[in-house]
Amino acid sequence: MADISLDTVSKSFGGIKVIDGISLEMKSGEFVVFLGPSGSGKSTLLRMIAGLETIDGGALTIDGKRSEHLAPGQREVAMVFQNYALYPHMTVRGNMAFGLKNIGMDKSEIDKRVEDAARILEMDALLDRRPAQLSGGQRQRVAIGRAIVKEPAAFLFDEPLSNLDAALRVRTRVELAELHQRMQSTMIYVTHDQTEAMTLADRIVVLNNCRIEQVGTPMDVYLYPATRFVAGFVGSPG
Ligand code: ADP
Ligand code: MG
Repeated sequence: MADISLDTVSKSFGGIKVIDGISLEMKSGEFVVFLGPSGSGKSTLLRMIAGLETIDGGALTIDGKRSEHLAPGQREVAMVFQNYALYPHMTVRGNMAFGLKNIGMDKSEIDKRVEDAARILEMDALLDRRPAQLSGGQRQRVAIGRAIVKEPAAFLFDEPLSNLDAALRVRTRVELAELHQRMQSTMIYVTHDQTEAMTLADRIVVLNNCRIEQVGTPMDVYLYPATRFVAGFVGSPG
């Protein structure tokens, strides 16, 4: 389960507001996309949900528990970063196993989870390689694998496809949709790419200037943009 709720959440850096009173409810199993231009606050919002940033005002709750009472390790979330953030000196297997070893999981359970994830991602043959011996697309799959093995209630993706070439972007996008079907977990996905948002989302949250412009299904925001900004941003060729 991962019901995530934001109630007038705000955040400033150095006295400058970057999240300005955002309220939002996300239901367990939903695929929610935060869509907005660079600097609109998407990553900050995701990092607050992951517990990598504190909130300054308002309330963030995960399954009814207030974020102040939940250390990052107590949140059943797994984040996938844009730049992969792999450990260069570890193999693929080591990278995927690292977080599980840290929490003291049995070796046999770790091996099983890593091998299952590798199978899902078609990386079985690459488990003994190091990141430097992988393509960009393969590195991103390791980053996704590292999230899968945690069996999180919610996956948090921060522009996971932005460093991939166009063909691979499309392929990985399809795989992420399949992953959502298979895992049934909540997915929160940050992007500035309206095509990704339109094809992946159950609901799109359009962000601009530290605030929500509109929340709706892809069809809602496409056909009935609530503001001039949404009309321009979602309608313009991605
Ligand atoms: P997005 O992911 O939509 O591009 P971000 O959440 O990264 O936006 O950033 C929103 C705003 O907050 C930007 O103006 C950015 O410069 C600022 N910001 C983000 N993180 C920090 C930080 N650690 N310190 C200072 N400013 C930050
Ligand atoms: Mg960002």
